[in-house]
Amino acid sequence: MSEPKIYQNLIDGQWVAPANGRTTENRNPADTRDLIGSFPDSDEHDVRAAVDAAQRAYAGWRLLPAPKRGEILFKAAQLLVERKEQFARDMTREMGKVLKETRGDIQEAIDMMFFMAGEGRRLHGQTTPSELPNKFQMSVRQPLGVCGLITPWNFPMAIPSWKILPALIIGNTVVIKPAPDTPLSTYNFVQCLVDAGLPAGVVNIVAGGAGVGEPLIQHPDVKVISFTGSTRTGARVTELAGAGMKRLSLEMGGKNPMIVLADADLDLVVEGALWGAFGTSGQRCTATSRLIAHRAVAGELAERLAERAEQLVVGNGLDEKNDMGPQINQMQLDKIIDYVQVGRNEGARLVCGGSRLSAGDLGHGYFHQPTIFIDVRRGMRIAQEEIFGPVLSIIPIESLDEAIEVANDVPYGLSSAIYTRDVNAAFRAMRDLYTGIVYVNAPTIGAEIHLPFGGTKGTGNGHREGGTQVLDVFSEWKSLYIDYSGGLQRAQIDNAE
Ligand code: NAD
Repeated sequence: MSEPKIYQNLIDGQWVAPANGRTTENRNPADTRDLIGSFPDSDEHDVRAAVDAAQRAYAGWRLLPAPKRGEILFKAAQLLVERKEQFARDMTREMGKVLKETRGDIQEAIDMMFFMAGEGRRLHGQTTPSELPNKFQMSVRQPLGVCGLITPWNFPMAIPSWKILPALIIGNTVVIKPAPDTPLSTYNFVQCLVDAGLPAGVVNIVAGGAGVGEPLIQHPDVKVISFTGSTRTGARVTELAGAGMKRLSLEMGGKNPMIVLADADLDLVVEGALWGAFGTSGQRCTATSRLIAHRAVAGELAERLAERAEQLVVGNGLDEKNDMGPQINQMQLDKIIDYVQVGRNEGARLVCGGSRLSAGDLGHGYFHQPTIFIDVRRGMRIAQEEIFGPVLSIIPIESLDEAIEVANDVPYGLSSAIYTRDVNAAFRAMRDLYTGIVYVNAPTIGAEIHLPFGGTKGTGNGHREGGTQVLDVFSEWKSLYIDYSGGLQRAQIDNAE
């Protein structure tokens, strides 16, 4: 374990203490005796300084040719590759998920770095013929200015990378506010950019909570807000951003279904459901939280899943033998305990788990058993609300039609999955599941960075991260018309019948 450190804000290339002098502790959720460091609990003064720095840096950064911006990203990606193992340990220590998952989180950021670095030599626009002779026309992407980025704690490096990198490659500058539970991974990520030669002020970090987030959204010089977090906070972010008429990208909660038809390969379903429901201790926006299973197989599946879930080893993620780490904090743990009680009160039947784990060293962390309910009905709260913990609800159904109806009958629409060997059923599900992502014969988690990521209904507001689609969040289209005819040509008039 390294010694606790005092971290500061990054403003205009300098590490500076927050104006109010306040700090918050970052502790290991697997063992709260382990203090990682103290981080600023900043306020609007620091936000103003950071936005000013980003605004000044924008003048030079937007004019640096995009391939040159890309070269800095390539260098940073190489540094991230070299530092991957250390950063994975840091992330497990601050966030709790097991090492193989934190390595995956960092790999996602590496993939995004190389992908967006390559965009420096593409950033495609369109050329299209004019209706008039001797006239040329095209569209190009333009940066918008300072972008305010607000991120959650469950993917502490991948999510900041999804936002920072597309913003930068287009020529914007950034102020990022990491989640108070997991700021270190944002610091580690940004340090690679700084060491790769990113000019001062292009990326600024202001650590803190809503006291940073709200003034960041409200600052008149911040042109884009990109937010990932809960739907509840997203509603507040929308209010504030709407008042300032900001461009706003929202990625929020999920209640992701896995449909299992009677013909499915149940061995595959068991592996997929365990990974989907209990990976990251259920703390993924794409976690499988509803198993919508044909009545013919639901009972057998519940038994097999319970047997396997009970064998999962829960403990400190730094120990490679452990399968599942803790919840992020006391509030999340309490929320899960409450939902287990809600499920019981609603008449669902617990087939495994259902309790906090606190024997021995586990008592110093926020551990909860992998938990499975059967006989869940579609309207129950545990079938409707995002729990964000290791709780799987099995909902029996009679047909594909019913399965799709139940799957779509929630306020969210991020990810969904269907297990079947029937190609017709798979295609119907791909068409009719109203989610941003659909998997066939794979669980609801596992997105790759080069396809659009995001969801419908309460999950998002129509934007997508990932893919080249994310570039639309951080750029403005400009259409350019060049008339080389030497005379006045009037579109829609001179060449009309
Ligand atoms: P959260 O909404 O509590 O916090 C998210 C971020 O918003 C944090 O940085 C927080 O400090 C900040 N914040 C809180 N109040 C604010 C305010 N009033 N103004 C501005 N910023 C404010 O979410 P969380 O608990 O950190 O993350 C879990 C949630 O994130 C889950 O609902 C999960 O589904 C969602 N999530 C979604 C995606 C996705 O891509 N759809 C990915 C990961 C997580």
